[in-house]
Amino acid sequence: MSRISNIKAKIKTEIEENTSRIKHHIEVQRSKGDSSEAVDVTQDESNKAESRRVLNELSARNDALNKALFRIKNDTYLDCKTCLDEITEERLEATLVAELCIYCANKEFAINKIIQPKHNPSFRRV
Ligand SMILES: [Zn+2]
Repeated sequence: MSRISNIKAKIKTEIEENTSRIKHHIEVQRSKGDSSEAVDVTQDESNKAESRRVLNELSARNDALNKALFRIKNDTYLDCKTCLDEITEERLEATLVAELCIYCANKEFAINKIIQPKHNPSFRRV
């Protein structure tokens, strides 16, 4: 099996896993909180809020994975979105949904650090 078809299989497996987790969290959102079990209403609400957060994360991840599948199909999976240079297969194996080559990703990371210096307390010391 080629590396890309290996990656493609990994992506499909993850989408399936995420989809079943998404279904579970949709059930949690729909459940009214069984009154016969005397569930603490506040606890139930915070469980739902946490479940909603996970649900959003899983949906976003699946969107990204589906986009990656689409790029594989269109033969643009290896192209960096910014510089059109080739993204290495090693990088894609590690980060299935990578859209940037390592150089552009590092550049973007550095820019985000400057925009949000509070996430990097050592930044001001330089
Ligand atoms: Zn690039």
